[in-house]
Amino acid sequence: MSTLAAHGGPPTLSVNEPHYRWPAVDDSLEAAVRAQLHRSLSDRDARGVIGDYERAFAEFAGVPHAVSFASGTAAIHAMSRIAGLKPGDAVVAPAYTFFATASPFGFDGIHVRFADADAYGNVTAQTIAAQLSPSVKAVIVTHMWGNPCPMDEIAALCTEHGVLLLEDCSHAHFASWKGRRVGTFGDMAVFSTNQKAITTGEGGMLVTANDRFRQLALLYGHYNKRCLTEIDPTAEFAPFAFTGMGLKHRITTLGAAIGLHQLSRADDIERRRRTVLDTFVNGLDGNPVLTPAIVPAEVGQHGLYVIGLRFHPQSATVTRRQFIDLCVAEGATHVDAPGSTRDISAEPLFARRDPFAPWQPSTPEHIDLPGVQAFQAGFLKIPIWGYPGDQDLVEGYLTALTKVCAAVAR
Ligand SMILES: *Cc1c(COP(=O)(O)O)cnc(C)c1O
Repeated sequence: MSTLAAHGGPPTLSVNEPHYRWPAVDDSLEAAVRAQLHRSLSDRDARGVIGDYERAFAEFAGVPHAVSFASGTAAIHAMSRIAGLKPGDAVVAPAYTFFATASPFGFDGIHVRFADADAYGNVTAQTIAAQLSPSVKAVIVTHMWGNPCPMDEIAALCTEHGVLLLEDCSHAHFASWKGRRVGTFGDMAVFSTNQKAITTGEGGMLVTANDRFRQLALLYGHYNKRCLTEIDPTAEFAPFAFTGMGLKHRITTLGAAIGLHQLSRADDIERRRRTVLDTFVNGLDGNPVLTPAIVPAEVGQHGLYVIGLRFHPQSATVTRRQFIDLCVAEGATHVDAPGSTRDISAEPLFARRDPFAPWQPSTPEHIDLPGVQAFQAGFLKIPIWGYPGDQDLVEGYLTALTKVCAAVAR
């Protein structure tokens, strides 16, 4: 066995940083952005690139309607208001997620009831059911790190209890559950297009099959020209079309041009990324120290955001932190235990009930989250590459992980 780099051996990889860049900026992407730069930097309606991008996204996601936003966070806030949530109401959200799944509810003083996670970091029908109460009007799920939540059972639970189902698909652009795309189970879904598998730099997309929700999404992000042309003049909310509901959350035309270019390459992005994912899933199959945290293909297709891995401390002579340090010493610098995506249930934002109250910290109620704790304790991630020339990185990271695993196995 070769000596670990941390113990004086040669590092496995010597690929220059950055090890992950997204999107792949090639001539055709530059040309698409340059063309838009000359066409228009701001569109007031959907006749240009904004409409093209939204239609392409709806087709990509397999949904009837898509409305673009300046960020995923803004689109989640729009979902909350469209769902009619107000102070006094409650929403069930994952305790383990990136905080923006739930922070827009916190902004409005809505009570967020946090659900525990399964072995993939996902909420389930059981963990959601444990948080239902008469004040719960909606449930939001996040398909964490690309693994789809068990959506058939979750959708049945929401129907049974008459609560709206919202999906945060920000990690799951290419995911499906039992053959059906995520984002099509809920009444509405949001895809962030920040640093995600399909990216616009900054941006978010709200998708829905409900035409009333589509029109309301326009009111929460796209006032004036666009609302006046696209909102049904007989709708009871049509008098608001000129002003919208008071805020503007449009994506930039340059962002939409990047998104449209990405979507034209979606098949290629998916094929490349799935190949990389499969390389790690196969390469780590049966490894006692580190296993892929990827749902079995029989139940779901992974969304291709990052590769999640589970560290098994009882099979190793080192802690997870030491394991990461050994990998980094090998040159695999992007082996990472996520920091800003974690249990959010104790954040003071979620103890705030008065939407106009300033930022005095208040003490959130404590809840037991054994599933979240177990998941967080063992989770690691690495990027899913997927661009031309990434072969050295893919091979290098797999070799480094395998080498460190062999050296620390009990
Ligand atoms: C990125 C992300 C968001 C927020 O999206 P922005 O576009 O950054 O506002 C929300 N939820 C999850 C799970 C995310 O990863």
